[in-house]
Amino acid sequence: MSCVTAYIGLGSNLEAPDQQVLFAIEQIAEIDQTELIAASRLYRSDPVGPGDQPDYINAVVAVKTSLRPLLLLDAMQVIEQDHGRVRHIRWGARTLDLDMLLYGEDIIENERLIVPHKEMHWRNFVLRPLADIAPELVLPTGQSLKKLLQTSGEKGLSAIADIPLPQPA
Ligand code: ATP
Ligand code: CA
Ligand code: CA
Repeated sequence: MSCVTAYIGLGSNLEAPDQQVLFAIEQIAEIDQTELIAASRLYRSDPVGPGDQPDYINAVVAVKTSLRPLLLLDAMQVIEQDHGRVRHIRWGARTLDLDMLLYGEDIIENERLIVPHKEMHWRNFVLRPLADIAPELVLPTGQSLKKLLQTSGEKGLSAIADIPLPQPA
């Protein structure tokens, strides 16, 4: 059984978003065949997307998993649904969004899953927390995280707290 390091981006902008994100991290730690190995700081970011939305809370975590990518995605979507995530409009407000940013060095393109996540290259609310836990990371595309972060800048983004790693039960 081979183990891969995957990175998951978390976002919420409804219903006590910081609690949504912190609880989701505990739930990620409990995914089958998956171990939580690192968490970024917690960030507040300006909303991207349609209409007038509340600020987002964001974080990124690293896991070691032996789940294949689509099974990891299944587990992530179960957690989203547990948070009452209802899909309304693309990029609209949500209680919890979990995006699979990276799955080892894999490049994945199927109808359910595109990895590396197709928007991560420009989103500072993904790149900055990712750099908290993997500063030297190079994407499977060959782009370095440091370079991408220089381009994205840190506008609209602020670190608001450290996230304690949940202790295994
Ligand atoms: P964005 O993808 O731009 O961040 P979003 O997170 O709002 O937008 P969702 O509505 O959460 O988009 O997801 C739509 C679909 O994207 C999901 O049903 C899922 O199958 C698919 N998807 C493709 N690649 C990924 C990925 N890397 N992580 C999570 N979902 C993905
Ligand atoms: Ca998303
Ligand atoms: Ca998503």
